[in-house]
Amino acid sequence: MVNNQNPSQIHVLDQATVNKIAAGEVVERPASVVKELVENAIDAGARSIRIDIVSSHNDIANVRISDDGCGMNPADTLLAFTPHATSKITRIDDLTHIRTLGFRGEALASIAAVSRVSLITRPRGTGVVHGTKVVVEGGVLQVTGEIGAPEGTTVLVEDLFFNTPARKKFQKSKNTEISHIHALLEGICLAHPEISFRLFVDQHEHLVTDRTPRMLDTIARIYGSDVVKELIPVNLSLPFITIVGYTSRPSLSRKDASRLIISINQRFVSSPLINGAIREGYRTLLPKERFPVAFLSLTIDTGLIDVNVHPTKKLVRLSREKEIVQAIQESVSTALLSHDLIPAVRTASHLPIAEPGENSIREPGMRYDLPEAVSSGTSESTHAGNVTTDRQLRQTELSTGNVPVGTKLPNMEVIGQLGGIYILTTTESGELILVDQHAAHERILYEQVLARTGGDHRSQELIVPVILHRTSQEASILLDLLPALAKAGFVLEEFGRDTFLVRAIPVVLGKLEDTTMIDEIISDLVSEEPSRTVNNRERITRVIACRGAVKAGTICTKEQCQRIVYQIRNTRNPFTCPHGRPTMLRFSRADLDAMFKRT
Ligand code: ADP
Ligand code: MG
Repeated sequence: MVNNQNPSQIHVLDQATVNKIAAGEVVERPASVVKELVENAIDAGARSIRIDIVSSHNDIANVRISDDGCGMNPADTLLAFTPHATSKITRIDDLTHIRTLGFRGEALASIAAVSRVSLITRPRGTGVVHGTKVVVEGGVLQVTGEIGAPEGTTVLVEDLFFNTPARKKFQKSKNTEISHIHALLEGICLAHPEISFRLFVDQHEHLVTDRTPRMLDTIARIYGSDVVKELIPVNLSLPFITIVGYTSRPSLSRKDASRLIISINQRFVSSPLINGAIREGYRTLLPKERFPVAFLSLTIDTGLIDVNVHPTKKLVRLSREKEIVQAIQESVSTALLSHDLIPAVRTASHLPIAEPGENSIREPGMRYDLPEAVSSGTSESTHAGNVTTDRQLRQTELSTGNVPVGTKLPNMEVIGQLGGIYILTTTESGELILVDQHAAHERILYEQVLARTGGDHRSQELIVPVILHRTSQEASILLDLLPALAKAGFVLEEFGRDTFLVRAIPVVLGKLEDTTMIDEIISDLVSEEPSRTVNNRERITRVIACRGAVKAGTICTKEQCQRIVYQIRNTRNPFTCPHGRPTMLRFSRADLDAMFKRT
């Protein structure tokens, strides 16, 4: 991106190249002017860029961008205002490997066509003592001449849209424009930590970053240390893509995607596709309606991205889109799941303060309703129950596919069980961690079923096949599900009209004494509305996990509790059940002390 050739050689592109360039207006609003001029400063290799916005009563009066980049010699300075004049590409072929932010050669010409532009520039490091000044108004050259100037370039844009009243009228309020500029610059600053940016609005400092090799410093400078504390580093390097950056713990989330800030090859872009991939990386770690905060910098082979699809280049087209999406999702989920994400329970007074005027939540991100209270079993039923529970737990210990990753969680020693629902555990550091036994076992089974799907050890034959009768409507739904059920380990065959024979069931369900569980699972599947977001495999897996898991209200022995805890610690995502409810909550000693006012 950095242009170190001094001075740059500007030339007018040939018609064939011009015809290949995505056409359209780039100067729609004041923020577009800022974007184009700041990008020119970055392409000029600036280390420091200053943006001054001066407002009048109800709109933006003028915009000034100053940089210490390579500058221009006198001949280039005039040429820079000619349409399709650029120093950044020469031939059509260059369009397939763009490394600069600009390449269309149109911004200065378009801006000067609808405003009064004064540009002062002096080439850097060439010994040229005088700068050049050019003033163009409504596309007409007004002034040109020598002037004393520092190295670098300053562009002042006044009277924007003076000759296009329609566009001027469509400007939103001054504050809306300023917030657009602010958001734009946040993205650009994060894509370029190596450049220092300063934004002033009516001489008040709005946004300042320092030159730094570390993106995290820039994040801290813009969003503060409260946000930084909640971030987890993301790193992935594949032959065609490198992903570095940060993504938030589930405890920091927002109601929209506005803080998913992405750059590709140091170009700040907006990509619903990438936003979707990041969210997918959270799977059930975030409730459906919440968005994480993430700052990702992607480096992708220039041959795989096409920035020439839209004149403003904020949208880019990606080849190998599927692999890129997959890589982003993987990088985010791997980063998250290698950390201890058990949400802390804190008293209200200990919740970190929300960002001013923000909709972020910092309290334990995942709220849920307590399961219905269940009466604890009587002593006889408890003994029988323990036997059943043993069977249920044993099956999930026969795990094959899953590689234990439990190291990210502290050791948890079982203290006891509460109400047949919660397992109380403690860690070496004296924390109290409560485990929802059903949710935890559901997660364990879920991962087991997924690991075995389609594999050799997925099903066990029933000694006596079970016969299921369904209504004809249910039967037709079930018929469609048979192949997916078989992959998960359920072997059913049609047995006369609206009747099915269950020959085998998933191994993870264990040896069933009571076959009503089979009926429950099938009933759940045929009665549930098919969902657009969850595919059949996922639905089946969730239902098997839910029905197969130890129920809330089951009294477990300490040893059984310890087995659940051992198993949940060894899942890939021990933090949430397949539906996204938490499996554990933590109370640190400090938080408990604070709640008891022992401080
Ligand atoms: P593009 O950026 O697509 O090349 P522009 O109209 O934005 O087109 O700029 C035209 C040319 O003017 C650039 O190619 C560059 O050579 C020169 N230029 C513009 N702004 C600057 C700047 N701040 N510093 C040095 N050169 C600049
Ligand atoms: Mg440009």
